[in-house]
Amino acid sequence: DPITTDMRTLTEEIGKFAKDKKIEIDTLKVREEYRRDFLGNVSHELKTPLFTVQGYIETLLDGALNDKNVRKKYLQRANKGVDRLMYIVKDLDLITKLEVGELNLFRENFDIVELIEGVFDLLEMKADKKNIVLTFDMEYPRPIYVYADKDKIQRVISNLLVNSVKYGRRDGTTEVSVENLIKNKVIIRVTDNGEGIPKRQMHRIFERFYRVDQSGSRKEGGSGLGLAIVKHIIEAHEEKIYVESEIEVGSEFSFTLEKSKVGAEH
Ligand code: ADP
Repeated sequence: DPITTDMRTLTEEIGKFAKDKKIEIDTLKVREEYRRDFLGNVSHELKTPLFTVQGYIETLLDGALNDKNVRKKYLQRANKGVDRLMYIVKDLDLITKLEVGELNLFRENFDIVELIEGVFDLLEMKADKKNIVLTFDMEYPRPIYVYADKDKIQRVISNLLVNSVKYGRRDGTTEVSVENLIKNKVIIRVTDNGEGIPKRQMHRIFERFYRVDQSGSRKEGGSGLGLAIVKHIIEAHEEKIYVESEIEVGSEFSFTLEKSKVGAEH
């Protein structure tokens, strides 16, 4: 009967339409939850430094401005708070772009050893403060050319090294090594002998805003975005990142990169 067939087709179509709509609504719900979650975390992260800055400014306005010694100290502290806010906002901007896949990679051939040494120079002061020695262990002679987005890989190395110093022990060491892995890959390792990461929290450290509770991370400044940024950048390169860690012994973060096909090869 053609009418029954038509009705059946219609019912099937309505059913399919409703199913599609449901999937659409479910997706929207997940997105909405994600957005709410994200915004909640953002305002939380911004509040702490904002309150700090506000506190110093209010104290200054309440009379501390007249005290020459205190004035400078408080302004410097407020300024530091503003620096931190800037830093968090920049990280937020970067992670948002990375998460929606808006950030394109600009790959080029460059010497990874030189890049790492550059980051060492930038971090020397921070490391000195905790008397942490930064060392470089290389299996092969330099230069080691890789094919990747240089600025973003600098960011990766910098975030990992900053963490190794932040969560490293006083008088400790951070060692970076570059090794050939398979024929067209190198592996870069950043190893510290710091506080380590509890086993049951290890799988979460790459989530944005996640910070290990009982670690030094609560007293150390940070937004919990560093490793999320690292992971996104490495995955955008279609490479892998690994972590091994033991409490009170230390942590090792390692990631792979593609070797350059041109340039000086060793
Ligand atoms: P942040 O350092 O801003 O808190 P990250 O995303 O860089 O955020 O790191 C997430 C958390 O992982 C840190 O809060 C810390 O608890 C832990 N962590 C990261 N790197 C190390 C490390 N080298 N040693 C010990 N813990 C680490």
